[in-house]
Amino acid sequence: MAAKGLQITRAERLRSKAPVPLALPWQAAWNGPLATPVTALSYACYRLGTADGIVGYGPDTGADPALALGVDAGDVHTFWERNMGGRRAGNAGRNAAGLEIALWDILGKAANLPVYRLLGGGQDRLPVYAATSRLRPKEAHVEQVLALADAGFRAVKIRLHRADPEDDLAVVEAVCKAVGGQVQVLTDANQNNAAPGYAFWSRATALRVARRLDELGVYYLEEPLPRQDLEGLAMIADTVDVRIAGGEHTPTVFDFREHLARGAYDVIQPDVILGGNFGITGLRLAAAWADCFGREIIPHVTGGGNSPLALPATLQAMATVANCPLVEYPHDPPILIPETLQAPLRVPLTIDDSGCLRLPDLPGLGVEVDEAFFDAAAG
Ligand SMILES: [Mg+2]
Repeated sequence: MAAKGLQITRAERLRSKAPVPLALPWQAAWNGPLATPVTALSYACYRLGTADGIVGYGPDTGADPALALGVDAGDVHTFWERNMGGRRAGNAGRNAAGLEIALWDILGKAANLPVYRLLGGGQDRLPVYAATSRLRPKEAHVEQVLALADAGFRAVKIRLHRADPEDDLAVVEAVCKAVGGQVQVLTDANQNNAAPGYAFWSRATALRVARRLDELGVYYLEEPLPRQDLEGLAMIADTVDVRIAGGEHTPTVFDFREHLARGAYDVIQPDVILGGNFGITGLRLAAAWADCFGREIIPHVTGGGNSPLALPATLQAMATVANCPLVEYPHDPPILIPETLQAPLRVPLTIDDSGCLRLPDLPGLGVEVDEAFFDAAAG
């Protein structure tokens, strides 16, 4: 790999030509009851090119694509330190994660290896959980989870935070009864979201729900309290056996230091793009930190127009670590399905019959972007 040939000489943002309609208006639970339902998804990504003609893609995270011009893809760690590291004032907050992912895509393609192989990762498949997104009647949840189990999923996430937490618990109980030991049940209270109309939980409510989920054998409770309430999270994590998870909005790797040191999370959930400063480099660092504290990482994956490249980037990173038992797979038929969430990919990533995603054999991120799906737009 001649370093000079990996210098970025072209950097663009591509936007989808037309939105992809959803089967039903989508009222995501975390947006609260007052939000306007989403009826279609739009997509955007970065396309970086080297002097030698290697092209890499990353999800659009808001940074100016020009930030990558002149960068050598072989210096991706330096790019991360300079723009996303978060240790020094001013080197975070540029939302450069999508560019970092595109640099890794180029580096893998230059080496003719998937990124996870380039990094020496040995896992060629990863278990996923189907992340459902809506608050529905109890019977609809049971029916859906049974259908997901039939489709091969071995883990499913249910949203909490109805007006009365007892109604949430009734749903989880019915789902646990229906799928027995066949499917792991995960729960998400989304208490770090600031959506209007939410019924926010007190520490006492969060602890009460956690105790009941403990009895039901649920795998984890995600975000029972805002991420700033370290004492509350640590108190609950100390009190119950059900794992306490969180961290999808955590902005930098270093922000997990206190959560891990104080025992606030049993499972950390950084997102490869949502905080803006993780990328593949940061996700792997976060995994190593969690491992030092005997904790798991189950990364958050956004379900929307950024999913097509965020999901493969997450897989490439997590195939290189030993403490990632599951990866989030946004999936809520008939709305969130591969045909919508991964529309710009020639071959979407779908589960095998053991509920796992196989790491693709193709080099870089391992996916092929259909360029006809996008219009190029300068800047
Ligand atoms: Mg969540």
